[in-house]
Amino acid sequence: MNWTNWSGAHHCSPDQLLEPDSEAKLQAIVDRYAGERTIRVAGSGHSFSPVVPTDDVLVSLANYTGITRVNPATEQVTVRAGTTLGELTTALDDHGLALKNMGDVDAQTVAGALATGTHGTGIDLGIMPTQIASVRLIRADGECQTIEPADGEQFRAIQLSLGTLGIISEITLNVRSAYRLRENSWIEPLDAVLDKLETLRANNRHVECFWFPHTDRALIKTLNPTSAAPTRGVPYRLDERAENLAWGAVCRLSARMPQLSPRLARFVAGTLDGTTAVGPSHEIFPTMRAVRFNEMEYAVPADAGVDAVRALRAEIRDAEWPIVFPIEFRYTRGDDILLSPAYGRDTAFIAVHAYHRTPYQAYFDACETIFAEYDGRPHWGKMNGCSPTALRDRFPEFETFASIRASFDPAGTFLNPELEPLFQ
Ligand SMILES: Cc1cc2nc3c(=O)[nH]c(=O)nc-3n(C[C@H](O)[C@H](O)[C@H](O)COP(=O)(O)OP(=O)(O)OC[C@H]3O[C@@H](n4cnc5c(N)ncnc54)[C@H](O)[C@@H]3O)c2cc1C
Repeated sequence: MNWTNWSGAHHCSPDQLLEPDSEAKLQAIVDRYAGERTIRVAGSGHSFSPVVPTDDVLVSLANYTGITRVNPATEQVTVRAGTTLGELTTALDDHGLALKNMGDVDAQTVAGALATGTHGTGIDLGIMPTQIASVRLIRADGECQTIEPADGEQFRAIQLSLGTLGIISEITLNVRSAYRLRENSWIEPLDAVLDKLETLRANNRHVECFWFPHTDRALIKTLNPTSAAPTRGVPYRLDERAENLAWGAVCRLSARMPQLSPRLARFVAGTLDGTTAVGPSHEIFPTMRAVRFNEMEYAVPADAGVDAVRALRAEIRDAEWPIVFPIEFRYTRGDDILLSPAYGRDTAFIAVHAYHRTPYQAYFDACETIFAEYDGRPHWGKMNGCSPTALRDRFPEFETFASIRASFDPAGTFLNPELEPLFQ
């Protein structure tokens, strides 16, 4: 049996692939294998970094899904770890509730998204793990422990744990009343966008920008709450599908003839237009990503974001990197989560992408040098080339996390070959 991640960059052939459908069965797996074998849990496989692969015991929670409790009065929901964000947000909407923020797809499982620190955008909103109220964890000793804010450092560790503290069974999230968002997007020259980015980030609940390499064009997307009537329907989904098909053709051509990439990027940027849409938040946040790619994303201090983007632009222009995928930048509020890339500072997240059939390593390496100059910290679910020592240095509370981890899992049951050098 084989497992592969979404982008196809990472594979494994686990000795056991287990698909429990209850907490008791999850606990039985830990009782049986802890201390003697290693166990990893797979979510939807949407991480670009090798945080899942193992040749030993792999647990999928695809059969362990659904909401177990919802309380509209306290605005909290408890959900089984294998539930996807799409399933969760649709079910929440039936109760008049919604997530406070999310990223740009909803295929991830709740536990998987939180375990790597998935984020959306919004300078007043934290990364998704800041929405956690409590976590029910099956530890290496087989004990089931509920971890909540009163548990201090343990809570700040479980909020972003890379699956290394144990198997998360259920998560309780702080949610909010359902709301609609108005999406506005438009095109502007990159310099004009960078000049007013700080105003945009202050004046909009969510702002996200995509700069198209080899051009001076950037697409800005803002999302803000509205009471206006929804405008999206089936035609929108068809448009989205058509756009993905066209984008896929451009990427394939660029992979076959890299020297055409600058012209292709200019052609694509020239066809872009602004849009407006209103809909329930859980329909407006996610977009269709049918064209596969690899991604690296770094978190730099919010006020350094504009300079870091300018430095990336200079690198791409001077080295003429044959890429067509846009550079994406978003903002989040700082937090106190031990392994969070936004730890202790408001943050600009900047992401670079490469079509899954094109070589990405040299391009990502060059971008990573720039991110390092801006005190960047890598997103745990995306690619990075950092050594274990560099990773330990980048995250100010890494050692606190590592010692809590060691106390939960002294034998290293919940590590894989990628994570072992980091923690042992
Ligand atoms: C198309 C695409 C778009 C994306 N958009 C964004 C975005 O907008 N913002 C952003 O920040 N990221 C984004 N990502 C990255 C993605 O959100 C993260 O990598 C996320 O962790 C993937 O969730 P998953 O369910 O696929 O988990 P996986 O990748 O399968 O696993 C991630 C980690 O979670 C652990 N895990 C899973 N379930 C459990 C459990 N029950 N107990 C303990 N550990 C567990 C795994 O062991 C692993 O360490 C995107 C990825 C893709 C492919």
